[in-house]
Amino acid sequence: MLGSMMKKELLISDLIVHAGKYHADTEIVSRETTGALHTNNWSDVAVRSRKLASALQTLGLQQGDRVATLAWNNHRHLKIWFAVSGGGMVCHTLNPRLAPDQFIFICNDAADRAIFFDKTFMPLITGTRAHLKTIEHFIFMGPRDADVEAALPEALFYDELIEKGADDFEWPQFSEDTPCSLCYTSGTTGNPKGVLYTNRSTMIHTFAISLPDGLSLSSEETILPVVPMFHANAWGIPYAAAMTGAKLVMPGPMLDGDSLLRLIDSQKVTLALGVPTIWMMLLAAAKKSGSKMDSLKRNVIGGSAAAPSMIATFRDTYGCDTIHAWGMTETSPLGTANRPKGKHADLDADTMALLRLGQGRPPFGIDIRIVDDRGNPLPHDGKAEGALQCRGHWVVDTYFGKDAPATTGDGWFDTGDVSTIDGDGFMVIRDRTKDIIKSGGEWISSVDLEGIAVSHPGVAMAAAIGAVHPKWDERPIIVAVKAEGADPSQDDILALYEGKVAKWQIPDLVVFTDAIPLNATGKMLKNKLREQFGNVLIEKGA
Ligand code: ADP
Repeated sequence: MLGSMMKKELLISDLIVHAGKYHADTEIVSRETTGALHTNNWSDVAVRSRKLASALQTLGLQQGDRVATLAWNNHRHLKIWFAVSGGGMVCHTLNPRLAPDQFIFICNDAADRAIFFDKTFMPLITGTRAHLKTIEHFIFMGPRDADVEAALPEALFYDELIEKGADDFEWPQFSEDTPCSLCYTSGTTGNPKGVLYTNRSTMIHTFAISLPDGLSLSSEETILPVVPMFHANAWGIPYAAAMTGAKLVMPGPMLDGDSLLRLIDSQKVTLALGVPTIWMMLLAAAKKSGSKMDSLKRNVIGGSAAAPSMIATFRDTYGCDTIHAWGMTETSPLGTANRPKGKHADLDADTMALLRLGQGRPPFGIDIRIVDDRGNPLPHDGKAEGALQCRGHWVVDTYFGKDAPATTGDGWFDTGDVSTIDGDGFMVIRDRTKDIIKSGGEWISSVDLEGIAVSHPGVAMAAAIGAVHPKWDERPIIVAVKAEGADPSQDDILALYEGKVAKWQIPDLVVFTDAIPLNATGKMLKNKLREQFGNVLIEKGA
């Protein structure tokens, strides 16, 4: 034998063992569903999640079984994650914002055997109970509760169940290829599809996002994942916080701007993560209160494109560096993160600001490319636009319960996005394939048009869609929601486009509406807007 190194499977349970041992007194602060703040630490999470894993065995749950959660970001949810995955089961995070039909479909498709739920979601459980064919155990996340007992007589109670667990339970050892968690895509069109992560894929993703060129996490950080644990695993933050020993602040159900602002200021949050709609509410609250969010050094924006004006406001008004990141449920989710390189240190402010607008470059472990409509690779020159594909250690291969691979014949995953990539790998999302506006044979990026519209202080939210046009097939229009107390006109908004985009890309019309429909992960539902406003140009006699 030439010699060898120790071989240890990469398991989720290792994360919580490490955090419990080496970051025992680092706090986990969590907003309870009742509204109160609860504080514990990594030692407590380690001890309690082990006990809970043991308690789950007493229910007859076995390795590979799916255990669902319908819960906010809070300390019980965190312990459930480690207990279920550490115990060899599959933690299936459910999105409570899904329509009841989709919710039922997903629970049955996953064949969940147990479900943990927060009180907020009891109506969803009782309303769908009769259709949930595979769930044997309904576990309320809290102490015994009279309302829950009345509505759901068979309910078990987390605080009682956990006491049935053994204190000396040891984490089971198994192959790192064992599945650990399951997340469904939001299924804007068609039924959602499940992505089944393994211990190994999750662990490698956790290393990658923790690195400086990922999200640069460490035990010095106080991290606020506003992004829900049911949205692509809160972008991997609960795992990475355990790996790096960061302090975690969990916002529970209170996701409005004022509540988040108070949490950031009182807990001295240094890094927060969420989708653009969350930041819009936070910025409005900060502006109103006058808080400068002094502790907040960085935020991560992903899920939808971050508008240039939002990145600039965080930088210039709040001294907060935005890491713009791209990913999908299918990519665990981090695909790229915007981290400048050493060679960019001397860039002038404007050039640097421009570089930071894009979605960034892939960390080691994931590879990206763009292809034309025949699947031929396009150059990484920052100009060619093509279908974005990726492959790597934490990218889906086959969806849950499906036989056919999710990949192309040559082993790449097609993301459904259109992007450019430059020579350093900096990727810029131009649009989703289905949202790009096709006018007279040319493409117009709805992302660009939206970024310009929301730079108007009187616009709270804006979507650019292609409206049917007899001559050009589609012409861009803007659907905008006015900011509170503001009354911008169509001309005010259209004036912003002069000189920023080619004349033929300037939208034909601005329609004002009270609200833009959002999907279950906070993204604008453009197919709904197309249904509603797609014929507006024809109706106006175009
Ligand atoms: P779903 O596709 O079901 O809505 P995901 O959360 O997996 O759920 O969404 C992934 C998609 O979100 C990507 O394919 C991309 O279109 C979009 N996306 C994610 N991050 C960004 C970003 N920073 N900029 C633009 N689009 C983004």
